[in-house]
Amino acid sequence: MSDLQRSAFSLQPAAPTSHSLWNRALHRIPGGVNSPVRAFRGVGGEPFFVNKAQGCTITDVDGREYIDFVGTWGPAILGHAPQVVIDAVTETAKYGTSFGIPNALEVKMAEIICRMVPSVEKVRMTNSGTEAVMSAIRLARGATGRERIVKFEGCYHGHVDSLLVKAGSGALTLGQPDSAGIPASLAALTTTVSFNDLEALKAVFSESGQEIACVILEPVPANAGLYLPEPGYLEGIRRLCSDHGALLIFDEVMTGFRLDPGGAQEIYGITPDLTTLGKVIGGGLPVGAFGGRADIMDQLAPLGPVYQAGTLSGNPLALAAGLAQLKEMERINGWALLESLGAQMEESIKDAIKEKPLTFQRIGSMFCLYFCEGPIRNLEDAKRSDTAAFARYFHAALAQGIYFAPSQYEAGFLSTAHTSETLERIAQIMTQIIAKY
Ligand SMILES: *Cc1c(COP(=O)(O)O)cnc(C)c1O
Repeated sequence: MSDLQRSAFSLQPAAPTSHSLWNRALHRIPGGVNSPVRAFRGVGGEPFFVNKAQGCTITDVDGREYIDFVGTWGPAILGHAPQVVIDAVTETAKYGTSFGIPNALEVKMAEIICRMVPSVEKVRMTNSGTEAVMSAIRLARGATGRERIVKFEGCYHGHVDSLLVKAGSGALTLGQPDSAGIPASLAALTTTVSFNDLEALKAVFSESGQEIACVILEPVPANAGLYLPEPGYLEGIRRLCSDHGALLIFDEVMTGFRLDPGGAQEIYGITPDLTTLGKVIGGGLPVGAFGGRADIMDQLAPLGPVYQAGTLSGNPLALAAGLAQLKEMERINGWALLESLGAQMEESIKDAIKEKPLTFQRIGSMFCLYFCEGPIRNLEDAKRSDTAAFARYFHAALAQGIYFAPSQYEAGFLSTAHTSETLERIAQIMTQIIAKY
């Protein structure tokens, strides 16, 4: 039988295409996705379906290849499917996939987090960043006996009820930074201020300082694109919290173990009371963590009155993956490598956009290109970006095999698998694309 005959009579259905999967997904999954930004609403068009991801490359089910700058939204700091992580997960799975009983990996992970992030004296694992943040907020309220919390416009902390107020990321991409389904009485306990505006925060503290349980922020906000804290700003927040007995929570779900082994708090020299982690520590498996001062963490059950739990928390596969990834990052000094790759990218993109009304912002391996004049220092600035121009740029890049996050309001990520040669090639393509704006 010829190949042609064989395929004509084959009982195997044709391999599904992205388009056919998308149509099926739209029938059975709300909006076709399990997390909103994946639906390409911010840029238009249909998402592709991944077949496999390796290093800095993604191959879709239609056989197209992309250089990936999303890195599963941050976790893939060594690139996709690094051998050390595959080995750790495979080996660990042979001993069981979940116990609900203490296991040694939990102790190892806790010790490594506490060593790498000095403000963390005790830590508890969760299954997502959202869960970590939700628990940290409850703990802050329980430990202080206060109810009000303060967050910043454009900062995203997962889909926690109290924090989906003027949130970034997917909520912002869809133009709904305030979610339906959140009781007004709960939202009323969240006060929101503009980032990089210490006077605004001072005003909140002088009005209701005694009611504030905690101030939570992304020390480097990366869910409305990417902007940096101005000199003295984080110190100012730290001082206000200490002066008023409010706890300072750094949400380092994205920046933790990415910008530096000790996160943004290490880079800026600030000691928060509590820190939330996720993404990189899971090595691509579902993980979150929250930790901080021992006296506060000891308020958690079973020691204290603040209840928090999880059937799969401290899951051996997730912890094995995370530990393997962190160990490899230390072995290869991945953070220094990422800084040099980031600097290379910055130099070439800044060259490409000079004399254009575009702004490129970067720290370490995180970056964002805004389609407006800079500087971008807060959400209001970020919203000046021409999102229609961003959508055209996104699709032009995608057509050339470059995958950026499908939203202006997300950061881009480099991994140690993006070689200098790859970035050089990408810079040439991007220069041509940018030349059209
Ligand atoms: C991604 C993210 C979260 C939420 O983590 P999930 O694992 O998606 O629940 C929280 N905070 C920040 C800063 C994040 O970037």
